[in-house]
Amino acid sequence: MLKGRILKGIGGFYYIDTAKGLYECKARGIFRKKKLTPLVGDIVDIQVIDEENKKAVIENIYERTTELIRPPIANVSKAVIVFSVTDPKPNFSLLDRFIVLSEKEGLDIAICITKVDLDDNDEFSKIKDVYKDLYKVIPVSNKLGLGIDEVKKELKGHISVFAGPSGVGKSSLLNSIDSNLNLQVGQISEKVKRGKHTTRHAQLIKLEEECFVADTPGFSSLLLSEIDTDELKEYFIEFKDLAFECKFYKNCLHENEPGCRVKEALDEGRISNERYSSYIQLLNEIKDTKRRY
Ligand code: GDP
Ligand code: ZN
Repeated sequence: MLKGRILKGIGGFYYIDTAKGLYECKARGIFRKKKLTPLVGDIVDIQVIDEENKKAVIENIYERTTELIRPPIANVSKAVIVFSVTDPKPNFSLLDRFIVLSEKEGLDIAICITKVDLDDNDEFSKIKDVYKDLYKVIPVSNKLGLGIDEVKKELKGHISVFAGPSGVGKSSLLNSIDSNLNLQVGQISEKVKRGKHTTRHAQLIKLEEECFVADTPGFSSLLLSEIDTDELKEYFIEFKDLAFECKFYKNCLHENEPGCRVKEALDEGRISNERYSSYIQLLNEIKDTKRRY
């Protein structure tokens, strides 16, 4: 039996990276009975049936640490959230939405701010001020090759997904990290044209041992529908330090409750206005969704 990692799955075939090279595999019928479908990112045991043609069968799937739905990848442990200083301009509320989704999945988070070569408004410092105490914030220029080594360091030992709005430079950044990738850059309209039905399957790129990145942007769905109102606060990590001291802790949504330490910290400038207003915006959105159902 040989252990490996699923890098790709197409039409019932799985491509598995092992110490002895890449194998094309089918899954044993037993998985269908168990309603268990192998996922890209899975660690598996395979039985080689034809060494010459590198064909094998998946015999066992190891327990997953995480399981993303869009993109469908198992064992992702890191989210690299990408925004740019300009073209498009940074949007804190959208950035916090990506952070909330990543926190919900239990992922490690790094924030990359691209296009710093175009930063003549000190936009990077403004973003860094808001996030520096919470997450790693890396300035990147794909044009100048700036920050790429630091991003690579963040990827070590992880399966990572890159997430962020269109046009911020995700494909460019992946190309900077691995020049073999050759992803198309600046093809926004092309991507939209491709449409729903022809969405590519997620695939993992192996950068080095135990270091993989998904070649498709993460979190194609940004819906918050699965998050409860009293769950949201858990994903704003700076609130948690203070929250246990709120007077009505369990029920405090940090809106206008008496004895709320988060509001206090906001007034004292220990929590940023941007983060707090993102929180309130997302909270109201979740309340609206719940009202509708
Ligand atoms: P994606 O939609 O997030 O994958 O973004 P792309 O990688 O396709 O990049 C969108 C546009 O931004 C392209 O025209 C890139 O050449 C440009 N771009 C990406 N990164 C940088 C950067 O660091 N500096 C500058 N000046 N332009 C960049
Ligand atoms: Zn509170």
